[in-house]
Amino acid sequence: MTDNWNTRTAMVHGGTSRSQWGELSEAIFLTQGFVYDTAEAAQARFIEAGPDEFIYARYGNPTVSMFEKRIALLEGAEDAFATASGMAAVSGALTSMLKAGDHVVAARALFGSCLYVLSDILARYGVDVTFVDGTDLDQWRSAIRPDTTAVFFETIANPTLEVVDIEAVAQLAHAHNALVVVDNVFATPVFSRAISQGADVVIYSATKHIDGQGRALGGIILGTRDFIRGTVEPYMKHTGGSMSPFTAWIMLKGLETIDLRVRAQAATALALIEALQGHPKLSRIIYPGHPSHPQYDLTIRQMSKGGTVVALDLGDQPEAFRFLNALKIVLISNNLGDTKSIITHPATTTHQRLPADQRAGLGITPGLVRLSLGIEATDDLIADIRQALDAV
Ligand SMILES: *Cc1c(COP(=O)(O)O)cnc(C)c1O
Repeated sequence: MTDNWNTRTAMVHGGTSRSQWGELSEAIFLTQGFVYDTAEAAQARFIEAGPDEFIYARYGNPTVSMFEKRIALLEGAEDAFATASGMAAVSGALTSMLKAGDHVVAARALFGSCLYVLSDILARYGVDVTFVDGTDLDQWRSAIRPDTTAVFFETIANPTLEVVDIEAVAQLAHAHNALVVVDNVFATPVFSRAISQGADVVIYSATKHIDGQGRALGGIILGTRDFIRGTVEPYMKHTGGSMSPFTAWIMLKGLETIDLRVRAQAATALALIEALQGHPKLSRIIYPGHPSHPQYDLTIRQMSKGGTVVALDLGDQPEAFRFLNALKIVLISNNLGDTKSIITHPATTTHQRLPADQRAGLGITPGLVRLSLGIEATDDLIADIRQALDAV
């Protein structure tokens, strides 16, 4: 039945499982454990738990399971495992599949914590990681070897919004049987078709668009049933990075409105970028969904829209700070995908710890700001940004 549902229907009804009370809204099962009718029933469940049978909340919980089923429908994945944060999903997906001696190829432009997992933690456990420019297929081609176990990249890099060609990288990786693991936060699950384009494992920080209202940390790993239940679940349930039932309920409720929110946010992002073309205070205007972006064609082919985040360059840090401080609606914070519009100055906050030359290499200039569009009225946001630019 769910096979024929459109996204909005699936996000309202998909994965729902009702108790004997027939509650309308999904129940929060705030329980760590489960009671068995008999000793024999407990024994049987520990030998093999059925699809709707639970043992311990670290292994699974009815509310968490509803969230996993609903997000799997959105992504078009066979299965999913919910985690305590986006980083629990990234580190769990990678460490559950890798062992000492394995080789990984990763894009260089990564979220700081993802970079730390790849370059520090995995290296400490004997995993060899080669970093490449994610937009350069020749670099992927020469770095992927017959013994490469996995490739890892953010489909749209933070904060410079460069786009990686999933289909092309997957072709190179699959020629050597390497798994394609993507951190898909900036693409959003609404616009993603990563699995049909060749991704084997898709990861989201649910903290971003899935909650979308700044309330809770969470993450999700999506993939084949074999990978999720055979590789990820044993690792996660024994190492403890599972999602709490309360968080899963927040994320379930977030999924009900995600299509409406993200489409509205992306439409505002495009309207803003069109309104700002040629603005004298901006030296760069970056949005993958606008024809001025060098990878516009790839973006539209890969995800049909440009996402909910734009980047603007004010020229230098004092101008960027004056712009941020003059904004009246847009908030200075470092979340993204939120209903509230949020602006960040990466060079002094999220990417502060990178050496200056590495920052420059990634295009994170002193004047660059990252703007995540919310669901406020488009006209109000454009007016707020215009008056703040006037103050620069
Ligand atoms: C936020 C983010 C993460 C980490 O997610 P948390 O929920 O904060 O742990 C990982 N990757 C990307 C691209 C992100 O934006």
